[in-house]
Amino acid sequence: MPQNFNPLTLPSPLLGERVKGEGETCVEIALPLPIEGTFSYLLEPDQIDRAKIGVRVRVPFKNREVTGFLVGFSSAPPDQKMKRVLAITDEEPVLSDRILRLTQWLSQYYFSSWGEAIETAVPKWVKQGKRWKPERGRGATEKVGFREPPRSPEWTLTPEQEKALSHIRAALQEESPRPILLFGVTGSGKTELYIRAIEEVLAKGKGAIVLVPEIALTEQIRRFFFHHFGGELEILHSKLSDGERFSAWKRLESGERRVLLGPRSAIFAPVSPLGLILMDEEHESSYKQDQSPRYHAREVALWLAREEKALLILGGATPSLESMRMAEVGIFQRLDLTRRVENKELPEVALVDLRKEAEIRKHSVILSRQLMREIEANVNRHEGTLLLLNRRGFSTQVLCPACGEVVSCRSCEVSLTFHQEANQLLCHYCNFRRDPPRVCKRCAKPLLRFTGFGTEKVESEVARLFPSARVARMDTDSIRRKGSHERILQDFRNRDIDILVGTQMIAKGFDFPHVTLVGVVLADVGLVLPDFRSGERTFQLLTQVAGRAGRGEKRGRVIIQTYSPEHPSVACAQTHDYRKFYEQEIQTRAAHGYPPIQHLINLLVRSKVEKKVYLFAKELKDQMARELNALRETAPLENIELVGPAPLPFYRLRGHYRWHVLVKAREMTPAQTLIRQTLTAIKRPSGVALQVDVNPLNIL
Ligand code: ADP
Ligand code: ZN
Repeated sequence: MPQNFNPLTLPSPLLGERVKGEGETCVEIALPLPIEGTFSYLLEPDQIDRAKIGVRVRVPFKNREVTGFLVGFSSAPPDQKMKRVLAITDEEPVLSDRILRLTQWLSQYYFSSWGEAIETAVPKWVKQGKRWKPERGRGATEKVGFREPPRSPEWTLTPEQEKALSHIRAALQEESPRPILLFGVTGSGKTELYIRAIEEVLAKGKGAIVLVPEIALTEQIRRFFFHHFGGELEILHSKLSDGERFSAWKRLESGERRVLLGPRSAIFAPVSPLGLILMDEEHESSYKQDQSPRYHAREVALWLAREEKALLILGGATPSLESMRMAEVGIFQRLDLTRRVENKELPEVALVDLRKEAEIRKHSVILSRQLMREIEANVNRHEGTLLLLNRRGFSTQVLCPACGEVVSCRSCEVSLTFHQEANQLLCHYCNFRRDPPRVCKRCAKPLLRFTGFGTEKVESEVARLFPSARVARMDTDSIRRKGSHERILQDFRNRDIDILVGTQMIAKGFDFPHVTLVGVVLADVGLVLPDFRSGERTFQLLTQVAGRAGRGEKRGRVIIQTYSPEHPSVACAQTHDYRKFYEQEIQTRAAHGYPPIQHLINLLVRSKVEKKVYLFAKELKDQMARELNALRETAPLENIELVGPAPLPFYRLRGHYRWHVLVKAREMTPAQTLIRQTLTAIKRPSGVALQVDVNPLNIL
């Protein structure tokens, strides 16, 4: 049974031999092009000595000259038409054995080319084989102005922390430790355990990779880690220059630094020997890359931990269904932290039924009377308030009251959002922007109506209702300017802001003891998306944001406004009941054959020409059905199901029409074989794109 859930099996053996043969030598080259497989070339006799796995080579490809990576050797078949290597660029390999194995697995598991996987995983200057001059005492940590790490307070661990730590210690003694799911409610002191676990690993002479969601990589957490690990700490983040990234990589490779903190791509960094991989808030969607290779850092971490015999710890208050399922079937060891530190209570959560509120007040509202009262009381007591609305902009729709026409994007099938600050209408999918129209484009009547609301409108409404309060907003629009994200956090921490309105950004990792009230303006925003993970995502978001309240001395209060108080995602968030939510949700997934009960591979077809998309999607499905029948002759494969072709919920995006075919499978390997064979057999017409998404985060 457990094997069914192991997403790590390689679909095919290593490509090519890894040692040189006799006679004429043929090499396998990975090219950084979106074409699957490697390409064979012959070596000139004088190149044979210099040819090593992991060096760059120049080769001819379709009347061009391109740079690729030497990834394998094989004996040359008697084929004189085979092209020859033009030049070997490097004396020494620029790619390590670990990176080669990792990227090969990545490319096979996620259906990218090996070259694309290398592009994703390895920093530019490393690939270019730059020479590194160690510069003592400089690096990412110094750049943010940290000095000597002051001693941090030594907590007495809570009994639950103590127990969890002893299990972690025991796991670190094991030869190939089983991954750990650290399931701890918000404020239960998971970070403290991460620190202790890393200290253990360092004491054994090994290193650790700590992954956090990009948005959580704030100065606060960087400082926190620096305080503990000082000169051992390396930090990767998206704003580093090529040079900084390169130096960081080299300092890790040389063993000068052994603790790495970073977002999903930090999983590829050469921390060696690797003793521990930590992944905080492992359910976060930023752990998945949304371009090829569409990898999920959790799956990569699982593979890497097993290869390197390192311990993997996945932490969170709202584990993904995937991870909880792995714990249920025994692949992960589960450790629970059920209480907050110092016996602080979880906040009290109240639901406000907006249907009733609207009935009484005769119109729909942004803030209910209950939430307004609570905000007012909080402002008077000078305590912090967070207001979540996971939708940015001012008005979500602009429509003509006369004919009903909605102003929508010219290249997507979605309505445009009005942004007041920019005074523009914006498409949240393709970033198309335009001035608000003065008249309806269909019936030419003036007086368009702006309806629906986003964070901008909540901010202005709150400012109007509470004129004495200092109000700020945090969403992708308001943090666009450099440094503004940190500044808002700083102002809020210093209590120069009373009420902070924001999108999901304010739900993540915020640890502000003075926040005693959290209001969710509209819990239903995410629920209306027609996606199988909508419920899970909403439950996670509500639980996370509720967890921001009452982390200090006083107990927190949470008010969730909703039109669907009986929805499991909302009801279970109210009672902090992850178990109940999990039990219900897993039943739904099982009933529909969705992850984590079955694997899912989404084949998405898109084109600007509507007819081409449908025709190719149909051909794809037919070809897959044929391949599946052929495979069934050799092995029993009842457990693969093909669904579609069907148009996607967002039928048109960025000017492309979109259809898809879904593969549902109990086991990953045969499904991957099926897809690989289909892709080889089928010819994709021009102007049609095909993208394969393994275990997609959404199907929209
Ligand atoms: P989580 O990540 O589980 O939400 P944190 O690790 O942020 O929780 O811990 C919440 C707060 O409790 C932090 O301010 C942390 O420094 C503090 N803390 C952690 N462990 C202890 C302890 N054993 N005793 C007292 N305070 C602790
Ligand atoms: Zn658009």
